[in-house]
Formats: sequence, structure tokens, C-alpha cells
Amino acid sequence: MDKDKHIIHMDQDAFFVSVELRKNPDLIGKPVVVGGNSDRGVVTSCSYEARKFGVHAAMPGRMAKQLCPQAIFLRGNMEEYSKASHEITEIIADRVPLFEKASIDEHYIDMTGMDKFFGCMKFASELRQTIIKEMGLPISFGLSVNKTVSKIGTNECKPNGELEIPFPKVRGFLNPLAVHKIPGIGEATFKKLSEMGVRKIQTLAEIPQDLMFKILGQHGLGLWQKANGIDLSPVVPYRERKSIGTQTTFESDSMDISKMKAILSGMVTNLTFDLRSQQKLTACITVTIRYSNFETVTQQARIPYTALDSFLITKAHDLFKKLYTKRMLLRLIGVKLSHLVSGFEQIGLYHTSEVEYDLYQAMDKVRNHYGVESVVKACIVKQPEKDKNGKIIKYNPRKKKSIDENGSGEERKRSRIRTFINTDLGTATKLDG
Ligand SMILES: [Mg+2]
Repeated sequence: MDKDKHIIHMDQDAFFVSVELRKNPDLIGKPVVVGGNSDRGVVTSCSYEARKFGVHAAMPGRMAKQLCPQAIFLRGNMEEYSKASHEITEIIADRVPLFEKASIDEHYIDMTGMDKFFGCMKFASELRQTIIKEMGLPISFGLSVNKTVSKIGTNECKPNGELEIPFPKVRGFLNPLAVHKIPGIGEATFKKLSEMGVRKIQTLAEIPQDLMFKILGQHGLGLWQKANGIDLSPVVPYRERKSIGTQTTFESDSMDISKMKAILSGMVTNLTFDLRSQQKLTACITVTIRYSNFETVTQQARIPYTALDSFLITKAHDLFKKLYTKRMLLRLIGVKLSHLVSGFEQIGLYHTSEVEYDLYQAMDKVRNHYGVESVVKACIVKQPEKDKNGKIIKYNPRKKKSIDENGSGEERKRSRIRTFINTDLGTATKLDG
């Protein structure tokens, strides 16, 4: 355990709901739920009044309605939440040198070294008050020796709380808590631990390390460390937080706009699949083009947090339109999604129809099974080749075509879409809470 570290974890209380209450103070003190309105939607955020009835984030809306029929269900507005999220990040960025944005409403701040100049608790407390005053939104924080203990601290003092757990008190703080308080314990792991009779963190901490490894593998080791108050994961600076992107260099330069748009659509579809499978959302899209004379131009746009194809494809096409101003051949095109945070897409929050949402889920399922190329948008598939009589020539992957045949070789050796993921996209998943 690194006793000299000082990590703050800040988390907005019932973030989406709080933004709604700020807009409509009549709702204060009432059970309010964001999401879960549609038939199969889930609760994304709920007020503490609704929680008293057992409603919680990620619960199916139908169940929430059964538990708390008097609750006020709101559709939600991701654009407003994203705006508030960016504003909070800016307040923090103005005041601290090293912080990580972990989700739409969560930040880690590394105060190590700064503690000599500021009292960490005093600093964190003042920062919290500033956010409350400037944003009009409630927030809580935990301050301890690493990310895990600080986050558990935040969760324990919510809502409207602040809690310091100095090094000597870490074990005493963790020991009596239930194991599910450790961030990242999934249902399956929780079940396994329950079967083993492990209910409290102390029990987990006292299990021999090698036994935990035997039962739960690497994940078990990580849990054991957390139960013992050990977490070596660093606070990753926001500005250095990596992106996911993809780019294509054409074998022969092109001016075919509809082809460019189709390629962009294909690229975005691949990237959003990655985002969703890693439970990330993006708040910034960048499109790059390179002309045949190697002049390279880039445009980016801030967007509400999302991982949905249709919205990002439209944005990508808009940016491309703005970028491609010269009647010149293109040799490269690329898309990048950045400002990534942990989070889920939810029905309703993005003006997405259920049909569209279902489509993404179905596509993701097929792709998880058969690979990313197994389902693609029709617009990125080229027209089937036809023979002299207009009959479609059946594609035979085993029969390799010679490059010169009918001049179609150019198409064949055309660019490959190269995807690079230049970051470890973490494992943490987070719903608003
Ligand atoms: Mg929160």
C-alpha cells in the first residue's frame, strides 16, 4: 500500500436526476427516475427518494414501476448531461494539475506531492463547495491512498458527503463492509464469493492469495488486493487519455465522394462496436483527410456522450463535408473518437428509437460471435459483380482473381481498413450513481 499517496475520488450524486431537479425544482423531494420509460429501457439514474423503494440504476424500468408506482419517470436528455459534465471537468481542470475523468460524472484527482502545499482534505472540500456553488449540483468525494479506497469512500458517504480515509485507517474502514462494495465485482463473482461464505471484505482479505487465484484467476488476485486496500492503478491524466481511431490510405487516390462517405460510415460502425464492447462513450469525433499532395486537414466536433452509430456517422459526414473543400484527389481518410469515459448507451437518452437500439444490440451479438466484419452496413458493401447477361457472379473466396482481370483488381487491392486502439480501454463500468 502506498501510504504517501493522496487520491481524491469525486462523484456527482444521482447526476442525471440532479440536472433534472435543477431545471425543475418542483421535483425536489420526490421519487424521480431518469430512463426506464420505454418497455425495455433501464433506469439510468434515480433520486434518493426513489432508492428508498429499492429502485436502483441498471434496473429494468418495468421493475422500477412496480416497486415505486408513484415515481416520476423522465426521458432524460444526454445533451444537457454532457454539457454539465464538461463544465464540471473544466472547474476541476482549472484547479488541479493531474486528474482523470473516469465517467460522465466521476473524476479522480492525484494530490500526491501537493499535500505539502495544501491540506488535501481542505482542498478537496473547497473544490467540492465550488462545484456545488457554480453548478448547482450535489457531489460527494472520498480521499484516501488509492483510487479503489477513495471510490469506496465516496460511495459510503453519499449523498452530499465527504470522507477522508487516511492510511492507518484503511483496513479498519474496509473490513466491515460487504464484498459487493468493492468496485468491479460482477454478479457472477459475487455469487461465487457468497457460495464460499464470503460476505465481508475482511473475510475476502484473509483468504490466502494463491487460493483466490485458483478460484477466480487474475481477477481474483485483483479483488484480493482491493480487499486489502491495495490498488496500484495510476490516475491517468485526462488530456493524455487515449482515443480509438481508424484510417485508410487508398491504393489509388480518389475523388469519389459517395465512396468516401461509405468508408466513413464503415469506419464509424467498427469504432462504435469497439466502444460498446468496452463500455465506453465518446464526447469528441475527429475526421482527417489527406490530399494527394500530402496536405492534411483535420476537423473535430464536441458531441454529447454517445456510442451510437447513426449519430456519429452523421457527424462524420458533416465534418468531411466541411473538410473537403478542394477539388483534389484524396489519398487518406481517418476517424478518431476521443474523450472516452466509461458508460453505457441507454434507450431514450439519445433520441434513438427502440428499433434502432435493438439493431445495434443484434449487430453487436452477431459480431461478438462471428467477428467484426460479419455484419456491416449495406452502404459499405460494393455492388455484386455481374456477367455480360447482367447475372450476378457468385463470389468464391477460394478462386483468387488475377489483379489485371477486367480492371477490377484495383477494387480488390483497395485499401484495407486499419484499426488501431492505442490505449488500454480499462475495465471499469459505470452507471450514474
Ligand atoms: Mg454519480
